[in-house]
Amino acid sequence: MQHEPGDAYEALVQFLYRAPIGLAQTALDGAVELLNPMASNLLMPLATDAGLDNLFDVLAPVAPQLPAMVQAFIEPSGMICEGLRLPVGVQHAANGPPQVLSLNLTKLDPERLMATLADVTLEVQREQEMLSRRLHSAARTDSLTRMPNREAVREELQRLLARAQDGHGFAVLTLNCDRFRQLNDSLGQPGGDQLLMHMADRLRGALRPPTSRREPGPRSSQLAARIGGDEFVVVLDGLRMRLDAERVAQRLLDVLAQPYVIGGHEIVCHASLGLAWGLDAAALGQHDPDSLLRDAGIAMVEAKRAGGNRHAVFEASMRERAARRADIEADLRQALADEQLFVVYQPVVRLLPDDGVDRAAGVEALVRWRHPQRGIVPPIEFIQVAEECGLIGALGDFVLERACRDFMDWQARLGAAAPRLMAVNLSRAQLGQAGWIDSVGRVLRETGMPPPCLQLEVTESLAAQDQDTQARLHELKALGVQLALDDFGTGYSSLSSLHLLPVDTVKIDRSFVCQADTSYHHRVLIEATVKVAQSLGMKTVAEGIETQSQLDVVREQRCDKVQGYYFSRPLPAAELLDWLALEVALPG
Ligand code: C2E
Ligand code: MG
Ligand code: MG
Repeated sequence: MQHEPGDAYEALVQFLYRAPIGLAQTALDGAVELLNPMASNLLMPLATDAGLDNLFDVLAPVAPQLPAMVQAFIEPSGMICEGLRLPVGVQHAANGPPQVLSLNLTKLDPERLMATLADVTLEVQREQEMLSRRLHSAARTDSLTRMPNREAVREELQRLLARAQDGHGFAVLTLNCDRFRQLNDSLGQPGGDQLLMHMADRLRGALRPPTSRREPGPRSSQLAARIGGDEFVVVLDGLRMRLDAERVAQRLLDVLAQPYVIGGHEIVCHASLGLAWGLDAAALGQHDPDSLLRDAGIAMVEAKRAGGNRHAVFEASMRERAARRADIEADLRQALADEQLFVVYQPVVRLLPDDGVDRAAGVEALVRWRHPQRGIVPPIEFIQVAEECGLIGALGDFVLERACRDFMDWQARLGAAAPRLMAVNLSRAQLGQAGWIDSVGRVLRETGMPPPCLQLEVTESLAAQDQDTQARLHELKALGVQLALDDFGTGYSSLSSLHLLPVDTVKIDRSFVCQADTSYHHRVLIEATVKVAQSLGMKTVAEGIETQSQLDVVREQRCDKVQGYYFSRPLPAAELLDWLALEVALPG
């Protein structure tokens, strides 16, 4: 279609007049030459008494930099600025967002500028909403595993607790690696992170996707989250019974227990799991996500204390036990600072072929706590707490150093009559601590203790654990010290795997020895242990001898050494010296 020149001009004017974008033509100083209605609409809220005569004056409150920008732009034409956001500040609707304009400024030729203006209020609002959604989801996501974090778990629990009145069953499962600190030390942090990511993947994979709303039965959802370090949480919703939750718990533990391959090495990492049943909590009037998480955590600690790689269901009595442990922990910190800990020594005697005994064969150092209110506390009540709260390092160092010093003191005082071997117990947490083996070497050097006179005792469940532990045991052996396998018969390893452990001595547990004279079965076990140990060149010690007839049995079985109340209870250092001096008057 052909237009007359007049029509074309009119069409152009109409086009500019109706364009849904603000257009303005100005001189280089901002003096307005042409302005379409949209431009004056958009600029009006900014206009002062001077009206819309000069674009730069109008925009001065929100874009004072414009004159300088134009001056700095020396090219004859081109884009001076693009998409400059101008917060006009007025609101269209009562509660609407404040208006924002977008400005493009173009130099048309050496004398003229063209400004285009658009209302981008909604666009800005959408951007901000998206950003805040992203921030919100980042604040609820664990950056390492991309799992929901504690905040997300709390929100979910809040929702479920609110629905619990309707009898809506749900469970909170807290999972924690059994030896993460050790693994992290030996793998290095990147390896530790990788392990956590593998665990996260397995947890996600083991949970089924949410059921659709159309499926019959209760709608269920399963949330797997990481709430810190090596601590994961799974929230199971839409369950009929607690037993269903326990089944899932066991499945998760099984999945996590499969070996991991990290940096080309196969790693085994078991977890412990605590389960809190939401309806129990709600029935007790507990409507706070944090206490539910705490209860599941308390049950998890119980599972760990029971040996790990298992689950425990929260019961109210666990809370009291946890509080008591917290008391012990606080007192124990004080005890280390106030030197309330001390070491007693139980003689370990060697059985001689002529039915006699060598009483100076050695001693075992056993820690005690002189509690200001409770009196003497036995180690069974505090060693595990010390392991859990990280105090075992300081405690173990104290015992090792005290024992070595006392040992050297006896050598100086008694010469050939002094005990010839000092046994010191090790806890699994010590063996996993970075730098600990060096500190054993340091104590040996500083006290002058000959390494072959020190016997470190590890329980068989610890020694049998994994390649890593084995490597540590070999490092210890390289210091020249002896190793003993304590409490043999109570743990996992069997006679058939004894040859794999780098130990010099096997200590047969008291639970076998105390039935040596009454149970044929136990007698046979002792006999088999002694024979296998002997064939491997290892010595044997029978622990917990209390009677002459028990002694007779283990002597007949050719045990090398014995230890027990029959000879002596554990004694303070001074009394031990008396015991050694009173040799003739004692049994044996
Ligand atoms: P253990 O290393 O097997 O030590 C032997 C335990 O059996 C000692 O208990 C000892 O007093 C007790 N015992 C010895 N002979 C007899 C007996 O004839 N009859 C009876 N009923 N018991 C006897 P204690 O001192 O209470 O120590 C218990 C456990 O605590 C130790 O078992 C050891 O595993 C641990 N422990 C003790 N001191 C330390 C320590 O300094 N560090 C670490 N990590 N653990 C320690
Ligand atoms: Mg021991
Ligand atoms: Mg023992």
